Amino acid sequence: MSPLDRSHDPALASWVASAQGHADFPIQNLPLGVFSPPAGAPRGGVAIGESVLDLAAAVQAGLFEGEAQRGAEAAAGPGLNPLMALGPGPRLALRMRLVELLEQGSPARPRVEPLLRRRQDCTLHLPAHIGDYTDFYAGIHHATNVGRLFRPDAPLLPNYKHVPIGYHGRASSVRPSGEPIRRPNGQRKLPGEPAPSFGPARNLDYELELGIWIGPGNALGEPIPIGEAASHVFGLCLLNDWSARDLQAWEYQPLGPFLAKSFATTVSPWIVTAEALAPFRVAQAPRPQGDPAPLSYLLDAADQSAGAVDIALEAWLAPRGGTPQRLSASNATDLYWTLAQLIAHHASGGCNLNPGDLLGSGTISGVTHESCGSLLELTRGGAQPIALRGGDGRRFLEDGDEVIFRGVCRREGFAPIGFGECRAAVLPAPSA
Ligand code: CA
Repeated sequence: MSPLDRSHDPALASWVASAQGHADFPIQNLPLGVFSPPAGAPRGGVAIGESVLDLAAAVQAGLFEGEAQRGAEAAAGPGLNPLMALGPGPRLALRMRLVELLEQGSPARPRVEPLLRRRQDCTLHLPAHIGDYTDFYAGIHHATNVGRLFRPDAPLLPNYKHVPIGYHGRASSVRPSGEPIRRPNGQRKLPGEPAPSFGPARNLDYELELGIWIGPGNALGEPIPIGEAASHVFGLCLLNDWSARDLQAWEYQPLGPFLAKSFATTVSPWIVTAEALAPFRVAQAPRPQGDPAPLSYLLDAADQSAGAVDIALEAWLAPRGGTPQRLSASNATDLYWTLAQLIAHHASGGCNLNPGDLLGSGTISGVTHESCGSLLELTRGGAQPIALRGGDGRRFLEDGDEVIFRGVCRREGFAPIGFGECRAAVLPAPSA
């Protein structure tokens, strides 16, 4: 668990004017990503207010030394994988040096200011090459809500509270925020239809999730002990696990999701690092009475006392690109398993995790109906359309709809930090 240091001081201020009180990217955040400046190649950068600091240019300008330089050089290329591989040390040194460069009164300001780009002029890319993507199902309220649609009397399957459920997803179709997604064609058979058919998905949905970017990872055959798992979290982003519910309902038995999920996944482009999140770590909520204790390979006292993260999450819908309307609000503390438990479980059989691998948390819903992180839950399987301003309604997503996720960490005595947006619009399906 990262300790608190002066980079978390709420009194810390930056000479970058737009960073003062910025909703997402004050100097206490310093998230990492990959961007292209106008007419430039992709390279690593740091978001500060409405600007991006060009790390490749900052390395060239000789602004780093020692461990910070090692970190900055590893982050300067078209993917953050080399920095992810280095683990927490160089990442922390880079963060502390970035604070020195960007804080008010920094003597380096004249050398740093020319290396800032306006964020709106830059193209944001995926922050890393994703070798593998796994999606978990750790949002217990989501799992309960979805299970109830199919099994009203026993919504959670018997394994849920013992084993973190997940499936191996598709890395090739993960896209950064802002890139539209295409409604998939697929095979579906709705209840009452005599035979399956192929065509545009009718029940297109989103899932509000956290993305976990893996740091060093493990060698094949060498599990990650639960006590060390947190050190393999490079950082977090917002993740939309787009889901075609009609395809999913028809194809999912017996092996789980397949084409209903693999057509697109959207991530926010800025990775909020484990160090930036340190003030917002909280105890994992005690399990309700009667729930089983985790098996020992998933149980660690330090993880239980500070392994959850307090992140307020919101899902918004811009109907056909119109004015966005908030659909739900939940919190990452609603996850049944900690990030470390997901990582330790993933590696427990010997499967190797690599720098830049991406894990989805599973849909994060709260206990209330207003906190449901998918339309499947909000509309109770499509049976009860949600009302939109202006009299329109939605069972599931229509072409032209845009889904926007936001996430913010707040704690008394600390500067709030945010994730920026995870946003994408739905394009019509290709002609089948
Ligand atoms: Ca999911």
